[in-house]
Amino acid sequence: MNTIQRVYQSDRSTWVGDGFPTNSMLPMHEMGNQTSPFLVMGYTGAYQFSPSNHQRGVGLHPHRGFETVTIVYEGELEHFDSKGNHGSIGKDEVQWMTAGRGIMHEEHHSKDFAQSGGTLDMVQLWVNLPSHAKMSDPRYQELTATNIAEVKLANEAGLVRVIAGEFEHIQGAAKTFSPMNVLDVRLNTDAKQTFSFNPQWNSMIFVLSGSIEIDGQDYAPMQTLYINQTATEVTIQANASSKLLILSGEPLNEPIATHGPFVMNTNEEIQQAFYDFQHGHFA
Ligand code: MN
Repeated sequence: MNTIQRVYQSDRSTWVGDGFPTNSMLPMHEMGNQTSPFLVMGYTGAYQFSPSNHQRGVGLHPHRGFETVTIVYEGELEHFDSKGNHGSIGKDEVQWMTAGRGIMHEEHHSKDFAQSGGTLDMVQLWVNLPSHAKMSDPRYQELTATNIAEVKLANEAGLVRVIAGEFEHIQGAAKTFSPMNVLDVRLNTDAKQTFSFNPQWNSMIFVLSGSIEIDGQDYAPMQTLYINQTATEVTIQANASSKLLILSGEPLNEPIATHGPFVMNTNEEIQQAFYDFQHGHFA
């Protein structure tokens, strides 16, 4: 039986604001609960920016009902929100932001990165919240390179950084509202590594760079591999030095109602979100 159920090729990059040329590798409306709790995965793949005094990015916008997880591989971002929170996210750092009942924020290249220019390589995931947590207090988890556990793979196959969940009994750094694994995986050329999966969960492998082979099939960057829900193990052969993001999670099995930056369970809750936003309740 095939361990890969389906492949999605993202071959079009669109700009988010003026800062983030993004390949949508997990189209929100395509699979619905088949990717739950993951909603959106946008990848800005090693884009070169020239030096500038202008901090590119996206201006003030709201979110409600889910979490944004920003993983920076190269470059540096800066973040401001309506509650006065301010921080930067640099190389190998992760910001896990729970929008909960509502947050307004700006996301830009950091001043230093804008001025120096260079490579921006990053992912932003949208992770859905279970209905009981959608109106929870907003919170931030700033995961630095040192507090993300790094597991070295046997036979110099590479390494796994455990952003959330667990890998080989090593716990991830982020607290989550539902069970999930978020793994930053780097495989060396010729590595062969088997990953275990919970067959009750939705699981995906995102190929960010390099070249891998599974069951004799080659996969390339910007491809999303949906793992067959009955598969408990997937063996990945790296044909080049490769960077993967492996996501798996217990499906929420709740209705999804979404419009723009709001992800709720019902259309009434979406209308309430617009009402609250328009009446300044997010500020
Ligand atoms: Mn945002």
